[in-house]
Amino acid sequence: MKRIVVVLGAVAAVLAGAFALVWFVAGVADRIVQSGMTRQMAKAARAPYLSDDALHILLCGTGSPMPDMTRANACAAVIANGHVVVIDAGPGAWSRLAAANIPGAKIDTVLLTHLHSDHIGDLGEVATQSWLGGRKVPLEVYGPPAPQASERTTDAEGETFGMSGTEEVVKGFAQAYNSDAEFRIAQGHELVPTEAARMIGHDVARPGPEEAVTVYDRDGLKISAFLVNHDPVEPAYGYRIEYGGRAAVVSGDTARVQNMVRFAKGADVLVHEALSRDMVEMLASALDASGNSRAGTMARQIIAYHTSPVEASSIAKEAAVPLLVFTHEVPPLRNALMRHMFLRGVADARGPGDTILGRDGLLISLPKGSKDIKTKNLW
Ligand SMILES: [Zn+2]
Ligand SMILES: [Zn+2]
Repeated sequence: MKRIVVVLGAVAAVLAGAFALVWFVAGVADRIVQSGMTRQMAKAARAPYLSDDALHILLCGTGSPMPDMTRANACAAVIANGHVVVIDAGPGAWSRLAAANIPGAKIDTVLLTHLHSDHIGDLGEVATQSWLGGRKVPLEVYGPPAPQASERTTDAEGETFGMSGTEEVVKGFAQAYNSDAEFRIAQGHELVPTEAARMIGHDVARPGPEEAVTVYDRDGLKISAFLVNHDPVEPAYGYRIEYGGRAAVVSGDTARVQNMVRFAKGADVLVHEALSRDMVEMLASALDASGNSRAGTMARQIIAYHTSPVEASSIAKEAAVPLLVFTHEVPPLRNALMRHMFLRGVADARGPGDTILGRDGLLISLPKGSKDIKTKNLW
């Protein structure tokens, strides 16, 4: 017993000595932190998904406007053959892209599914940080045109809403970041090319009801837009991504729509939004009970224009997609019981094929010339 006490005392003394060395001797602390940073940067520089021959989909935002400390708003990054295309840039998207070691220099294009704030709120940050990260050309942003004239509203001051498609929205973001650009140039002119500070918006003309239009086609990476149903957000797009004989589809926000089956056929992965109606109804009841029935009513209003997990599963089954990944998960799934409830009925509706709950940092990899589907959580 006495010997154990002596040994434990000696171990405690050694640990206390080591702690004091690290904590109070500046040179030791500096060396530890420096080597940690060096290791981290080296790891970032050799992230295999940036250079291998595969189609990757990185989930850089799987949340919704409802508060969730673990999820950014809508964002999915397509990585293939040296290109990075960001689909939607919701609030928090840039921090997730940076955490996944995506070099700003490689981001040349952003595609927007629609112009809701939870899909465009981080556009300014993605543009600014990718520019500071070394992007050498203006950032191209493609997305829907302005909604149709019958849906416009004018307020008492004569301000008319719904006038802006992607081109105008991007001009607005560029205007908002105009002074920031000048500050950055003044700080490091030789490092940040002035001409690349710009972002240029393009309206993608509404495709026909059963049509897909190509919006991106570079070095074998092809992405096309098709119509989904996010009424009254009109038009809203989903995107089909193809590279090296592999394919993935990102749904954007939509109610169950047959176009999703049409364009997901033959794809390896379907990344589909999902909203649990029962759970949103519970949330609305809780808001009512707390005296906030206004928020309760608003929560109920979103139910109609999203897809339930069971409906998304039936789409994946009909399209025979091997992997279904849920994103834009509503409401926020705060614990294992809520995740379990969210998936209620999914296995029956899904049939053969895998289904996973997406999370920020999930990397889905589709190597060229194979049928493999690999998934990995980057953090
Ligand atoms: Zn939306
Ligand atoms: Zn949304």
